[in-house]
Amino acid sequence: MSNTPARIVEALHLGPEAIIDPQGNFKRAAACRIVTDTRSLQSGDVFVALRGERFDGHDFLEMAYDRGAVAAVVDTPVAVDIAQLVVPDTRLALGLLARHHRLQWQGRLAAITGNSGKTTVRALCEAILSRSAPVHATRGNLNNDIGVPLTLLQLNDTCTQAVIEIGANHTGEIAWTTALARPDVVLINNVTDAHIGEFGSAGHIAQAKAEILSGLSPDGVAILNRNDRFYPVWAALASHHDILDFGIDVPARVQAINLVSDAGFYRFTLCIDGDEIGQVVLPLMGRHNVMNALGAAGVAHAMGCDPLHSLAALNEAEGVARRMVMIEGVRGTTLIDDSYNANPGAMRASLDTLAQRPGPRWCFLGAMGELGHYSAQAHESLGHYARELDIDLVVTIGEPARAISTAAGVRGRHFEDWASMIDFARQSLPSGASVLIKGSLSAGMDRLVNALRSES
Ligand code: ATP
Ligand code: MG
Repeated sequence: MSNTPARIVEALHLGPEAIIDPQGNFKRAAACRIVTDTRSLQSGDVFVALRGERFDGHDFLEMAYDRGAVAAVVDTPVAVDIAQLVVPDTRLALGLLARHHRLQWQGRLAAITGNSGKTTVRALCEAILSRSAPVHATRGNLNNDIGVPLTLLQLNDTCTQAVIEIGANHTGEIAWTTALARPDVVLINNVTDAHIGEFGSAGHIAQAKAEILSGLSPDGVAILNRNDRFYPVWAALASHHDILDFGIDVPARVQAINLVSDAGFYRFTLCIDGDEIGQVVLPLMGRHNVMNALGAAGVAHAMGCDPLHSLAALNEAEGVARRMVMIEGVRGTTLIDDSYNANPGAMRASLDTLAQRPGPRWCFLGAMGELGHYSAQAHESLGHYARELDIDLVVTIGEPARAISTAAGVRGRHFEDWASMIDFARQSLPSGASVLIKGSLSAGMDRLVNALRSES
């Protein structure tokens, strides 16, 4: 089989229905899935062999054959009796397959990016949009250059609308995934300095997020956060598109007015394009979730959804696991499980929420990862911030996190090991306290949540 790039693209453009017979001829199969993990492979699928840091899909061709794969996409032929399409880069091939599949699909697609809140906004959009018609949405956290193609490849005629998350670990990734997704609506939620070590500066992160605008269809809508410091940059870059901005305490097309907080929960009047749609009593904690709700209402509006659906769905919003989940009655306290992930902006948002709680305010914080040479300074300034907010006790674990409790001064306390910290929590949590538990995924702060929950 010829391996010139044109031949490969032509082959891939046969779409995910394509199969390759043992002679190297391309055929179409009625229903043929593209999979990258042999554990989910079914008879009749095409297997794409990806190379990762810890695995190499080429090692699994035999297994793909055993499980009934009809063909494999590889970068190097493997001595297994299965039809193989050899391409220079199997990740790119996966992307091109997804792009082709997406272009065949006739529905409207919204893509969501930002340092924080992608999954929350996606879940809110799904809840709103599904009130009018079925929605295809990102599952789990499949938002990178593998997850986005896999999500796109699952688009089918049962849905006419889709909401997908688009994340990035490096510059250029969003430009690629958004080119595959060809969104009709895009949302840039914020820059909260996640992965700043990789990107180099907040400005570079903002630029990387703006890559999503490059894939927006010409008559597409850009949903932009008016409260973010990078709003002017994004608005300038999106000036040839319809812009739908959202914000609190600023003039914006989607606004929360008459915002009132009560112990970390908010209610407000939702306004869209000058119309007061009605009151939202948001079941999700934190002002940052008001922003997520406004962003989701903006996406839904741009997708052509009835604003009353936004109103109803936001009033019944369900949180996502491990994001600001309130757990009552653990040793007479209220735990706030926000252990899913953290970055400097997300930590501040959670501390802001904790500061509004009645009674003693405690937090148990793990390290924030991927901050590069900003790490020490970011942890230290978070400790100062907790002090300014008058948080009663700031407990940390793990080395980079020590700087937080040190900067918190007399209200800081550091532990080197889990057993001591868990013992301390068990013995000392004051009744009536609100207890925030948060850290980057790698800090594993869910261990403390589980330890405290198991005895409640
Ligand atoms: P990831 O990139 O880690 O998958 P994500 O962008 O999907 O994250 P979520 O999973 O929705 O974000 O939320 C993760 C954490 O980010 C929350 O626990 C919260 O601390 C913080 N967060 C969510 N929304 C916002 C926001 N609008 N502003 C600041 N922080 C937020
Ligand atoms: Mg996510």
